[in-house]
Amino acid sequence: MLDPRQRAEVPAKLLEAGGLRDAVARQVAAETGVPEAQVYGVGSFFHLLSQPGVNVRVCQGVSCKLAGAEDLLSQAKASGLAVAGCSCLAACDQAPAALRTRRVLPRLTSQHIDRAAGDWQALVTTEGDTWEGVIGPAGADPENLAIDLSAERDHAGAAFARAQEMGPEAVLDAIDSSGLQGRGGAGFPAAFKWKAVRSQADPVHYVVLNADEGEPGTFKDREVLMRRPDLVLEGLAIAAWVVGARDVYCYLRGEFELPWQELEQAIGRFAAADTFPGIHFHMHAGHGAYICGEETALIEALEGNRGMPRLRPPYPTESGLWGKPTLVHNVETIACVPSVVRRGGAWFKGLGRGAPGTKLYCVSGHVERPGTYELPLGVSLDELVAAAGGYVGKLKAFSPGGASSGFLPASERRRPLEFKALAEVGSMLGSAGVVVFNDTVEMPWAAREQLSFFEVESCGQCAPCRIGTRFLHQAVQRFLACGVDTDDAKESLSQVAEVAWELNEGSICGLGQAACLPLTSALRWFPEEFGV
Ligand code: SF4
Repeated sequence: MLDPRQRAEVPAKLLEAGGLRDAVARQVAAETGVPEAQVYGVGSFFHLLSQPGVNVRVCQGVSCKLAGAEDLLSQAKASGLAVAGCSCLAACDQAPAALRTRRVLPRLTSQHIDRAAGDWQALVTTEGDTWEGVIGPAGADPENLAIDLSAERDHAGAAFARAQEMGPEAVLDAIDSSGLQGRGGAGFPAAFKWKAVRSQADPVHYVVLNADEGEPGTFKDREVLMRRPDLVLEGLAIAAWVVGARDVYCYLRGEFELPWQELEQAIGRFAAADTFPGIHFHMHAGHGAYICGEETALIEALEGNRGMPRLRPPYPTESGLWGKPTLVHNVETIACVPSVVRRGGAWFKGLGRGAPGTKLYCVSGHVERPGTYELPLGVSLDELVAAAGGYVGKLKAFSPGGASSGFLPASERRRPLEFKALAEVGSMLGSAGVVVFNDTVEMPWAAREQLSFFEVESCGQCAPCRIGTRFLHQAVQRFLACGVDTDDAKESLSQVAEVAWELNEGSICGLGQAACLPLTSALRWFPEEFGV
């Protein structure tokens, strides 16, 4: 009988061998005992495994395209590099970005490609390949920040010690009264999940860190991992101790080579000092699949399977990793925990405006200083962009929470960027990856770019999502190619509402449910640009 943990080794072995090729699949199958067909299944699912030989990728996310990434990809191809386009690299603040094996190269230019002269190893964009962006706001009072990206790293484990003095029930009360909601996209109350896992009778519980940040426009988790790995690990240790877990699995997207190094070193420091006795951290690299940011898909990937979301119930809190009760949290969510424990739930709650806490807002596109800004949850776009140095050009539209949130018009610039206020207008906060578009951008173009992302990243298991994402992308593509006057384009656009309904009703996860928003919101707010 195959030990399920052997299956978990398959993706790493494929990577080590240079990606999915026939001979590699046979060899990995023989080494692990996993059937060859399953090895193919996994290898063909993940972008970083399914393109052997490709060692450079140029991001084709919307922020990178606004900064000229399409031309750079063509230039890189012509230069002889083994290059492909790829989905968002979580570097929208440093667009356009590229990936050299697993290292993100920010601010790629034509000169960098010329200088590399077809040698992928010579493609370098910054000295030492550093990767830290702008953080802010400048002059913020640290007393009002839950994460504080600019603070010195604190190796003391003071919050963990404080949690032990308080006892698990009091920590749970603090998390509950803080109102902390998941910062990965869904906004689910953290305390609810903690209680659900803690109450399970099974003696084995797990905690999983979701660091598979991939929503176009979002790059905050990268900054937290690079600058405050101490906070992330302390939050995880507190959560593990409260819910009764010994093992914590940190799943980082495969493109996060530098954040990986920071987290790994921090784990080593804490282990050497035995700061969190009884808690064991394990690291796992993703291999390129946006859908693995969905918690059940992430669990599947951790188990060595294709990263396809599971049907729920059961929820991971009852049956998660290897069938055990599992608490899954996003990086930013867990990084809030030490402050909540040290300063109390009421303090955290009071930081927000109409919604609890502070929020790491990422802002990119047409703003002066793209970056990550910790601000009260509920600030408006105008306030966020003021912290980011102002608009570049005249504001036309924005996505408040990445591709999944669709577009809002400039008239919504004073709406609070928080869960409820955005839901009222048919959008969502998501992971707060705010992308700003000025009036040089045509909305059908912007919609096509976001739809193309969903088509590429759909895992394909639900027919409405597999077919619907392609249909919507092609509808806009046809419109852009031929204009609304052609029968074909008219016919496709007239079916959008029906396809959107199918996507909403027939998709089992958030990707499919939100995939129509770029087009439906663009049609709603900018109908004249589609000739309707
Ligand atoms: Fe996969 Fe799309 Fe279904 Fe989600 S909705 S499970 S991404 S096919």
